[in-house]
Amino acid sequence: PAEGILRRQEQRESAARTYARSLPVVPVRARGMTIEGADGRRYLDCLSGAGTLALGHNHPVVMEAVRGVLDSGAPLQVLDLATPVKDAFTTALFETLPPALAEHGRIQFCGPAGTDAVEAAIKLARTATGRDGLLAFSGAYHGMTAAALAATGDTAVRAALHGHDTQVTRLPYPYDYRCPFGIGGERGAELAARWTAHLLDDPKGGVQPPAGMLLEVVQGEGGVIPAPDSWLRRMRAITADRGIPLIADEVQTGVGRTGTFWAVERSGIVPDVMVLSKAIGGSLPLAVIVYREELDGWLPGAHAGTFRGNQLAMAAGTATLGFVRRNALHERAETVGSLMLSRLRGLAAHHPCIGDVRGRGLMIGVEIVDTDAEADDHGAQPAAPRLAEQIRCEALRRGLIIELGGRHGSVVRLLPPLTITDEQAEAVLERLAGAIEAAHA
Ligand code: PMP
Repeated sequence: PAEGILRRQEQRESAARTYARSLPVVPVRARGMTIEGADGRRYLDCLSGAGTLALGHNHPVVMEAVRGVLDSGAPLQVLDLATPVKDAFTTALFETLPPALAEHGRIQFCGPAGTDAVEAAIKLARTATGRDGLLAFSGAYHGMTAAALAATGDTAVRAALHGHDTQVTRLPYPYDYRCPFGIGGERGAELAARWTAHLLDDPKGGVQPPAGMLLEVVQGEGGVIPAPDSWLRRMRAITADRGIPLIADEVQTGVGRTGTFWAVERSGIVPDVMVLSKAIGGSLPLAVIVYREELDGWLPGAHAGTFRGNQLAMAAGTATLGFVRRNALHERAETVGSLMLSRLRGLAAHHPCIGDVRGRGLMIGVEIVDTDAEADDHGAQPAAPRLAEQIRCEALRRGLIIELGGRHGSVVRLLPPLTITDEQAEAVLERLAGAIEAAHA
């Protein structure tokens, strides 16, 4: 049956589908970190619904919460009416927010997807400031709808906008390994920050005052690139000094993944707007923005959407937020993540094709490079997307699902659930090492 399913989807689904092309797996059952295919094979899932599954697949507390709503006879579709389920979710979410936002923040339910929340954040910033333009970063990923896509770095996917482009000024993101200034480290990040300040202040060549600055604290799709805390603080100061709302897209980094509950916590910055999705819905579709109440200049009905009231997602989200907090799973992410990072660095010492190992918590990237080609003056070798793809295939053969990202699709991304056991972490490392060796053979 698996072949039939794959063949029919191949015939009927849009040519734009992504994972289905490269993962010939037909999942029929899943629990925790394990997915079972229709062919009976079992896989360790290091993709986690692109970072959605903080607690892995079908965690008992999530299942129980969803069943609780179903059994209670509560309405499942309520547009944006107030319900006990929504109240519980909002309360649980606000308990996790930086105090400044928890005490004086507003929430806007945006719809099912991360891109809906990005869109809402950009619109909110425009409404609040009366300005149009947006500052975004090289390598950024914010989604596929018009304004979110305009803010996304990838020039190939952005071409599809065909002129419906939001005015975006793209700034350099502090990418240590492939530093745009060729020096990396704190100094490279400092130059990136200076360039940003310069563009905003130069009256003969700078940008119009923008509606907002949109950034990821750790770029995910862009190749798992953590921004240094010093750079984040500089971005906070630069925007605060000039009255520009700072929008942190925590769609992928949120709910403990990077070692703190929200990724912004590590640097101590408090953004004006936080964009949240993926794990906040405990595996079901949910997206919100939370923001400083001063920005709440919307007229009633200025932002709407039929599917903002997903009761099942809110219940699954409440259960997930509570479980991560009670069990300090963000700390666990930090511990296991550090262990995996140091083991991967050990692996890199034996495999020159691993150009860089980086990450925060359980958001880990392994950059695969071409060792036959010459390194740049900062020591970075050219990306090796074909080899990375071979590694991904070899990993799948060994029962490990990983994903690729980065500028050239050459960064192996590991996004295991925060509930990963030590044994599972070992198995991931072992299978990945095997895959790297086999790809070279
Ligand atoms: N922002 C970030 C940082 C993301 O990683 C993603 C999805 N990978 C999005 C926005 C868009 O979310 P969605 O795919 O749910 O629209």
